[in-house]
Amino acid sequence: MKMLTYQSSRGMEKGISASEAIVRGIAKDNGLFVPSEFPRLSKSLVEYQDWNYQKLAKEILSLYLPDFTAEELDYCVHQAYGRQFDTPKIAPVVKYGKYYFLELFHGPTYAFKDMALQILPLLMQTAAKKMGMKKKILILTATSGDTGKAAMEGFADVENTKIVVFYPKNGVSFIQEHQMCTQKGENVKVVGIRGNFDDAQTGVKKLFQDADFLEQLNLAGYLPSSANSINIGRLVPQIVYYFYAYLNLLKEGVLVDGELLDVVVPSGNFGNILAAYYAKKMGLPLGVLVAASNENKVLADFFHTNCYDKNREMILTPSPSMDILVSSNLERLLYDISDAEQVKDWMEQLHHTGSYQISEEFAEKLQGFVGEYATVEECNQAISNLYRREGFLIDTHTAVAMAVADKADLTGKQCLIASTASPFKFSAAVLAALGRTGREESFSLPEELSHLTGVSMPDGFLALRERMPRFRDVVEPNQMKRSVLDFIQKG
Ligand SMILES: *Cc1c(COP(=O)(O)O)cnc(C)c1O
Repeated sequence: MKMLTYQSSRGMEKGISASEAIVRGIAKDNGLFVPSEFPRLSKSLVEYQDWNYQKLAKEILSLYLPDFTAEELDYCVHQAYGRQFDTPKIAPVVKYGKYYFLELFHGPTYAFKDMALQILPLLMQTAAKKMGMKKKILILTATSGDTGKAAMEGFADVENTKIVVFYPKNGVSFIQEHQMCTQKGENVKVVGIRGNFDDAQTGVKKLFQDADFLEQLNLAGYLPSSANSINIGRLVPQIVYYFYAYLNLLKEGVLVDGELLDVVVPSGNFGNILAAYYAKKMGLPLGVLVAASNENKVLADFFHTNCYDKNREMILTPSPSMDILVSSNLERLLYDISDAEQVKDWMEQLHHTGSYQISEEFAEKLQGFVGEYATVEECNQAISNLYRREGFLIDTHTAVAMAVADKADLTGKQCLIASTASPFKFSAAVLAALGRTGREESFSLPEELSHLTGVSMPDGFLALRERMPRFRDVVEPNQMKRSVLDFIQKG
């Protein structure tokens, strides 16, 4: 059998090993690495139903990372999915009302990014070692709040790596800033930018193209990389929990083997739902895949009109992690329904005009997908309805999925909703949905939410208040280079 490798979705590269794809992140032609095939599990589903999360993760990762040894995967999986999660199930499935919720927020930062960012640093470190890389890895990330914290939590004190996170000084929530600035680890640095998220992101992109900067990194023994969601090392670990959820429902007798399970995913960059699609391609019996958007409904419009059009104003919503106009991972789906030549053409149009239209012939291949969006009002209704009927709280991102599930044309089969954040992480917005408007984000809000609803908050929220900030730097965007180099050169 041929070994699974990776190739660029825009055609320039082929036959790249998993290790190399993880270390590099993106292909030379700016395409995304996609697997050469969709592997299959060796046993029937029922034979996996008693497996714990770690064992299942190892099995699935081994199919996509064939150049990693069993020992290496064992190390990565057990380090990543250990006691930093507040439940041994890692990603439990709970039922409230007619929906099953797959809870992806039991990791250290209380949001779904942990599912992949707890393991990515370990995969990168292992891959770099295998390739005999002498250099250390420097992760540079601009964040609007969630990703930066989750990435640091994953990379903290991982040998031969350093990470610098830039955030817009006045563009993240009070809790998010405190979470980041109190981050532990000798190899992390957090810097506020006088500007918005775009300024931070543009600043990071410029660094990657600054020859003098790259030369200085090189001299200091560092290779720059990024932890963003297009890395295959983030995508593959996300496939695991769709299998895990299905197997759990199989074991409980909710599903019989082969019965289709519909999945609704609150979507932004399209990484989470793409992992569900990859699971389906591997033979997992999933029904329709519903991409749920907030009012930034570029994806919903795309699935309705076959036209992807980012020419619009970004709307700030109570589900900020989905306030996105360019869903990078959609490129991998487009590759799967067409070919590299075609993808390159669409991506060039997107770059030059901000939009592209796919033909009927290709659109037909997207029939397994539904795209819908929900308004803030509908999301608030979903939060308050579920709380009043079931006593169960969901966050504002999960609410987008539930509001969409309520109105989407589902087949009436069992329905799984990806629940992507703890409601306590977005306390002000959840309180507002429950009628307590006008709250400023502060340490007392999660407690207020807990008192009001009788739902207990994760232990970590209390500890957070006690932590002292370690990082206070705020710089102009043109000083970002200096602050990275200072950090690198000091040791
Ligand atoms: C990142 C994020 C999403 C969106 O996931 P994508 O993979 O970018 O589509 C949804 N909810 C939360 C809480 C997130 O942090």
